[in-house]
Amino acid sequence: MSEALTHTQLLAFERQITELLVQLQQEERELLAGVIQMQPVFCEVGEVKDGLAGNLAMQMSACRAALARISAGEYGYCDTCGEVIELNHLMADPAICSCVRCRRADSRVLAAVM
Ligand SMILES: [Zn+2]
Repeated sequence: MSEALTHTQLLAFERQITELLVQLQQEERELLAGVIQMQPVFCEVGEVKDGLAGNLAMQMSACRAALARISAGEYGYCDTCGEVIELNHLMADPAICSCVRCRRADSRVLAAVM
């Protein structure tokens, strides 16, 4: 298996994801306290998720999973096919866990189900 990311890049992503997670936890606290309002949020494949709370929970679990993959040395590889995830996709969304090909396949499956 070839090296997807350098150690420096991994550390940068780890910091970025940790910061994102802290921010999401803060948003969740504000949401629970009624500071911010529920609103429909469009997720990646374009369907409306069950409001901001569901979206936050989803993002937080994605962040936790990404941090776990960093400690396991699996970060940067697609969960589905094991291919290296393109760096520009990781930079756009550090918590993604599959390559663009598998995500496209995923949204096709979702579209077929709906
Ligand atoms: Zn893949």
